[in-house]
Amino acid sequence: MIEVRDLTKVYGALTAVQGLSFSVAAGEILGLVGPNGAGKTTTLRSLAGIIRPTRGEIRIAAHDLAQDPIRAKGALAFIPDEPQLFDYLTVGEHLRFTARLYRQPETVADIPAMLAELELSDKADSLASELSRGMRQKLAIACGLLHRPAVLMLDEPLTGLDPLGIRRMKRTIAARAQAGTAVILSSHLLPLVEELCTRVLIIHRGERVAYGTTAEIAADRPDLAGRGLEEIFLSLTGQGDAPSP
Ligand code: ATP
Repeated sequence: MIEVRDLTKVYGALTAVQGLSFSVAAGEILGLVGPNGAGKTTTLRSLAGIIRPTRGEIRIAAHDLAQDPIRAKGALAFIPDEPQLFDYLTVGEHLRFTARLYRQPETVADIPAMLAELELSDKADSLASELSRGMRQKLAIACGLLHRPAVLMLDEPLTGLDPLGIRRMKRTIAARAQAGTAVILSSHLLPLVEELCTRVLIIHRGERVAYGTTAEIAADRPDLAGRGLEEIFLSLTGQGDAPSP
């Protein structure tokens, strides 16, 4: 559903992402992790068609992002960690606008259930500028999910959510994957990645340092056998001497 080959992004003298290749099948949740500045957001923004890669091929739901950007983008939803909303549209107006933007008027019927799933029903008539940070996050996710994307990309989706919101968001992400959506989840919250993701892609200084299930990654390194993702991550990113909390 997502196929990435040799993705490279150069900013001036800095290579932010270098020769990254991976794929995500329908129903799979790939955890994208890496230290600050590793190139995660650059990767997600390239996959979403927001920035143009310097090199490489990206296919979203079998559509080449460079050759057929409208179809590729129509099949995906990207929810950044700082969602951009329209301050003078209400919650309901955001969703109805999204349905029109993606030319899926029939999804308007799904709006009440979507608002209920994300606990926004009583905010349907509130302006985006009147929402709390967590509610803004939920609205961005509702807009992303409404058009039933084949590919869902989330950057730190739990930021600002309360404990019940976190539980529900985890269920929402898992349910979408179970229904066949290919998901990329980027987060520094390694327990979340371990809980939800079927495979993990660890990047460091723009390059892939590990890719697979935690068991597969540890199998290549006998010293990491039986270790959790946090220890694998710290070791593979050269931060292995960091003291445990
Ligand atoms: P974090 O965990 O801190 O969010 P990240 O893994 O998402 O980090 P990126 O935002 O992709 O990292 O940044 C990767 C590198 O590219 C960094 O060195 C960053 O300074 C650089 N970079 C990102 N965007 C630009 C830009 N528009 N112009 C120049 N350099 C950039």
